[in-house]
Amino acid sequence: MERTLSIIKPDGVEKNVVGEIISRFEKNGLNIAAMKKIKLSKSDAEGFYAVHKERPFFGSLTDFMSRGPVVVIVLEGEGAISKNREIMGATNPEEAAEGTIRKDFATNIEENTVHGSDAPETAEVEINYFFNAFEITG
Ligand code: ADP
Ligand code: MG
Repeated sequence: MERTLSIIKPDGVEKNVVGEIISRFEKNGLNIAAMKKIKLSKSDAEGFYAVHKERPFFGSLTDFMSRGPVVVIVLEGEGAISKNREIMGATNPEEAAEGTIRKDFATNIEENTVHGSDAPETAEVEINYFFNAFEITG
């Protein structure tokens, strides 16, 4: 059993597709081990995306991620990290496969509706960024 962090980004919340996105996770065999709706400050977003701090889009990305509420979710299941990345689709919605969340809902490469951890090490760090042990019920 593996865990991964999903974030429904501000554009997904604004488009009112939170339920639709969660439904896709559940239909694909991923369980919700923890979930909450929160608002990131600019510095919360900068901390979360610290790995991208040298990238030209860092300022714009962290403005976007802190402009409105997000839903943070711990997904649990067999191969949850790669399964979630499949359900999400490619970073750039123009390159995302049919039927993926980003293909169906993303606005552009930045406002791409969902985040998903990319490896076991980042999943652990990202889950711990938002949740404590009491909040993760499995
Ligand atoms: P992913 O979210 O698919 O793992 P990355 O880790 O490469 O993608 O990038 C993190 C986030 O930064 C993306 O989801 C997207 O919101 C934003 N981003 C990535 N590349 C660009 C870009 N070229 N221009 C603007 N924003 C970008
Ligand atoms: Mg990434």
